[in-house]
Amino acid sequence: MEKKEQKNLKVLPQREQLVKELTDQVKEDLKNYFKDRDYGVIAVTREDALRAFIVKTTNLCEIARLRHKLSPMATAVLGRALTGAILLTSLLKHGTNQRVLLRIEGDGPIGLVVAEANAKGEVRGFVQNPNVETFIKEENGRKKFDIAKAVGKGTLTVVKDLGFGTPYESSVPLVSGEIAQDIAYYLLKSEQIPSAVAIGVLVGEDGKVEAAGGFLAQPLPGASESAVEKLEKNVTSLPPVSTLIKEGKRPEEIAELIFKGFTTELLALKELSFRCRCSKEVAKGGIVAMPEEEIKSLIQEGGASVKCKFCGEEYHFSKEELEEILKEKQQGNN
Ligand SMILES: [Zn+2]
Repeated sequence: MEKKEQKNLKVLPQREQLVKELTDQVKEDLKNYFKDRDYGVIAVTREDALRAFIVKTTNLCEIARLRHKLSPMATAVLGRALTGAILLTSLLKHGTNQRVLLRIEGDGPIGLVVAEANAKGEVRGFVQNPNVETFIKEENGRKKFDIAKAVGKGTLTVVKDLGFGTPYESSVPLVSGEIAQDIAYYLLKSEQIPSAVAIGVLVGEDGKVEAAGGFLAQPLPGASESAVEKLEKNVTSLPPVSTLIKEGKRPEEIAELIFKGFTTELLALKELSFRCRCSKEVAKGGIVAMPEEEIKSLIQEGGASVKCKFCGEEYHFSKEELEEILKEKQQGNN
């Protein structure tokens, strides 16, 4: 069934780059293809040098919540970080194995927040305190999660692994703790890319993620001053991005709002998912790295479970498997 849909799709995501006008037919095709799945679109304007990456991340944020058993507050924070890491894949080469890690180290009660995304649209992440309590603030008469209070003051670090040599790492101080503004500040300070970043995660009364997404909009070199002004005006007059997604707006439709007054063209599409690269083999590596004495005590306990901090998956090792690992390790040491 999946295959048949792909055949009927006129906008194919397998091509690395395409420039396609966002006609009603293209929008219909995108809707039929992605349905309720998470995805992002990279859009540009025909008339001027503007670019935007718009993503819907509702499902992957909900998967993160379930995997890590996150409190509503932790769901909002990790959801923002996961969405932010995906937006930062704009710095990578589309469709490659390159990846970017976003690390937020604040002094707030949530502790360390980590999200890692690759250029294929796979993302994973965790927070140090998944049970963090809810902080609420009021803004324009609306009750909102006080993300900055959970995160606190500290630094935001971005590690880019471009697949050759040492990953590139750069940190900036947290300027707001709300994550989107902090990413915009990082892009300006460390990458010299002025950009507008918006991220929103709407958590329902039952703790489930109702809507999540974000966008990164930027002028490209050569953009006219009037185009930049228009972009700024469009972006600041938009409702929160989670509200747009909750209303059923799709990434390509949000692109049109960001580029109001221009002709929106599609450059690329990306399916997005929560996916971890862990395996029992990787977990075994963690045990092999332990001191012999610790492995021996695990054997005495009759077995061990290793939990992947990125996705919450548990890998069990029996007493026999641990004995085998110890034997391999001792042989390796000799
Ligand atoms: Zn994992």
